[in-house]
Amino acid sequence: MRIVTDIPGGNFAVEKIENNVIYGHQELRDTTEWWFYWRFRMTELVQGDNYRVEFTNGEVVGYWGPAVKFGQEDWHFIGEEHRVSGSCFTFTVPEHCDTAEFAFCIPYDVENWNRFVEKYRDNPLVETGVLCLSEKGREVPYMRIGKKGNHGTFMLTARHHACESTGNYLMEGIIDHLLSWDNPLIYPVLQRYEVMVVPFVDLDGIVDGDQGKARAPHDHNRDYQEGRYITVRKVKELAKRTDDLIAIDCHSPYKWGGMSDVPYMVRPTTKKNALRTAELGRELRLNCMFQKPEDCLIYEQLLDKHVQMDWDGNFLEGGDTLREKPPLACDDWMAESGARVCTSFETTYFGRPWNRTSQKTMRGLGGQLALALEHYLMMQED
Ligand SMILES: [Zn+2]
Repeated sequence: MRIVTDIPGGNFAVEKIENNVIYGHQELRDTTEWWFYWRFRMTELVQGDNYRVEFTNGEVVGYWGPAVKFGQEDWHFIGEEHRVSGSCFTFTVPEHCDTAEFAFCIPYDVENWNRFVEKYRDNPLVETGVLCLSEKGREVPYMRIGKKGNHGTFMLTARHHACESTGNYLMEGIIDHLLSWDNPLIYPVLQRYEVMVVPFVDLDGIVDGDQGKARAPHDHNRDYQEGRYITVRKVKELAKRTDDLIAIDCHSPYKWGGMSDVPYMVRPTTKKNALRTAELGRELRLNCMFQKPEDCLIYEQLLDKHVQMDWDGNFLEGGDTLREKPPLACDDWMAESGARVCTSFETTYFGRPWNRTSQKTMRGLGGQLALALEHYLMMQED
């Protein structure tokens, strides 16, 4: 058996291996705080062998165990029966399988995006290309959807924080919905907006396997004032092209517990935008009432993050600008740039026992969010 970390998104340091027990930890790179992201591959496995993985730096094994990809199977959570504790899981090598990959949550790689894009290759409403080269020289992809030069711009971004892969599945659901109509251009979003999709803001961090959250001196999402990262500068340029702006920035919350177990929106710090985000949230909540929990992560709106809340969800007193202001985050910068509606949308890594995170439920929620946006726009006078 070999452990391989030189893979897209790889992040794991082996300490020792004794009698099929692997001891190791997630690598905290370039970060100012403890984080939980990890991912590694095992090769040369033998069917029927049992392994136990012990993490030595905090609890990083979620409710349903790690995400796993046995051989050529799809990624899925291995199941709570394999979770020994928040820092340990076990597994048995299944039949016809000599490789396995494990990760904190269900990953989303450049390869996933390329497969997704392929689906729309012949669609005349879709254009894809290279937005810019990253700091390490990688091609940062973009997708443009709809009529060129439409009067508004809908910025759809993900992975300001490299490890937050749930956001890309939400994004796929949004895009699939917008293009699902027989004649997409007569529906509110594509009738009025050109959609600019930037799926991997911190591409280098994603490929290299960094957690990307809380980088020193600041991460990509706290870069909207300084603009030290080229992709952030490009996103700002795109957002400035029209006066009518909608911006949804896809994130994953903290690892688990409390509001991190449900999808929620972060309301921007300007009151007007916060209220509009609440209107969008109401439409989404209504849509979700009619969804089955096996098809869609259920959004309830009650746990949206108000500006009067700290990041643990505690209510603070004394005004409406209590959340830290500069350096500006993407959603706040969009709000201050006059966005009609803008939000960070947080898609839970694990969900709840009756409403679990999976590729299907994340995409399902994305579809409902796009439909909510259509309904929201129908209620607006301008
Ligand atoms: Zn984030």
